[in-house]
Amino acid sequence: MTTATLPTLQRQTRMLKTTTFALATSVLSSVAFTAHANTEEFTDQAALHTIATAPQASHIQKDIQTLVNFGTRHTLSETESETRGIGAARRWIKAEFEKISAECGGCLDVYYQSETISDEARIPDPVDVVSVIAIQRGQTDPGRYVIMSGDIDSRVSDVMDFTSDSPGANDNASGVAGTLEAARVLSQYKFNGSIVYAALAGEEQGLFGGKIMADAAQKEGWRIVGVLNNDMIGNIEGVNGVINNTTARIFAEGTRMQETEDEARLRRFTGGEVDSPSRNLARYIDWIADRYVPNLDTMVIYRLDRFRRGGHHRPFNDLGYPGIRIMETNEHYDRQHQDLRTENGVTYGDTIDGVDFDYAAKLTGLNAASLASLSWAPSPPTGVRISGAVKPSTTLNWNAVDAATNPHLKGYKIYWRLTDAPQWQFSKFVGNVTEAMLENVVIDNYFFGVASVSEDGYESPVVFPGAAGAFLPDPYAEPSSKR
Ligand SMILES: [Zn+2]
Repeated sequence: MTTATLPTLQRQTRMLKTTTFALATSVLSSVAFTAHANTEEFTDQAALHTIATAPQASHIQKDIQTLVNFGTRHTLSETESETRGIGAARRWIKAEFEKISAECGGCLDVYYQSETISDEARIPDPVDVVSVIAIQRGQTDPGRYVIMSGDIDSRVSDVMDFTSDSPGANDNASGVAGTLEAARVLSQYKFNGSIVYAALAGEEQGLFGGKIMADAAQKEGWRIVGVLNNDMIGNIEGVNGVINNTTARIFAEGTRMQETEDEARLRRFTGGEVDSPSRNLARYIDWIADRYVPNLDTMVIYRLDRFRRGGHHRPFNDLGYPGIRIMETNEHYDRQHQDLRTENGVTYGDTIDGVDFDYAAKLTGLNAASLASLSWAPSPPTGVRISGAVKPSTTLNWNAVDAATNPHLKGYKIYWRLTDAPQWQFSKFVGNVTEAMLENVVIDNYFFGVASVSEDGYESPVVFPGAAGAFLPDPYAEPSSKR
């Protein structure tokens, strides 16, 4: 290693997780490559450190207790009582968002979003599935959205049992409490894009609240950059006895469900299987965890959700929106979807004593810092294209983001990584241009992407070229995507 390459190595190792350190070192031993790596530092954002550690465990504890006290929040439970059932629960959540809004001069638009569902396996008779939505409108780009969600409803062993006590403390009062607390923290700030706090209904009966919200967003033309679905963020003790409060999981799907045959054919020759916008959203959040959330490492999982199980980010993914699930690493199955009981000395049920409030606050901090960073950043670039076959250099081009809604744009940054590396490894800020060439970086050997960067250093997620990686509707999607 020459002295000239050493500073580059030091900069890169700060960016990389320790697990990829060995890989980076071996890459840098290639002199030809080092000369062009030019990895740049990120701007360390004081505000994100503050936001990431602002959520209070005591607030989350209080809100989970309040939700548990409604006895059951089953989707089919009674709605008239003020003290029991899902009606009382959603009215309390709405009032809580309104209280938060009152304290920031009315900065949140709070409303119910509902639809009557019937003739479904788990909702045979007509029931109003009612979610609570709160929107903090963006200052310059209000049509661009990031969403944090948790679920109102709970269940016990029999998914149709709507009368038994069903505390749902971790599943998923923890997600709703985290969403409320993130709103308390972030409502103290103003952002470029809009932030949505959603307490979604009907999850256990078939992901209905998420579907209703995703359909409405599509109809209204929301430009959704990411959905952060929080489902069970408070359990630190696995059913196998493992106790761990320093890791979390981010589930992110691969190729989009509505990828066309033409797009799939093109992807076969260009790549993109591991670079859906959901995956690059997950990498973004993983990076936020490394940089801003003390004592937390996230595991990005290349899967839609847990094996054959589901969550409320899926209805958004179904429509092509980037979305991921954030949750604890170690699940305790005796505490999920169980009748409250003791059997053979084993206690079952999702009670509040199974929730670690500090851990839930930590994952809330991860959400809040990610939402803030995404919303302060410019819009992700669209129309990203790449070329360079049989050339020693790689060229990327993209559409300039809208200047009116992104007045704080500084320019764009190219990222690249080895094709089997989990996280982006190299980057180069290229200025306020719409095309850039990486000299002597061979297209065959890396994956590439582009992020937009604000004057104060906030970055959008990295957008992989083509339809496979597009965050927002791709202006060149089929049939011209073959170019
Ligand atoms: Zn559940």
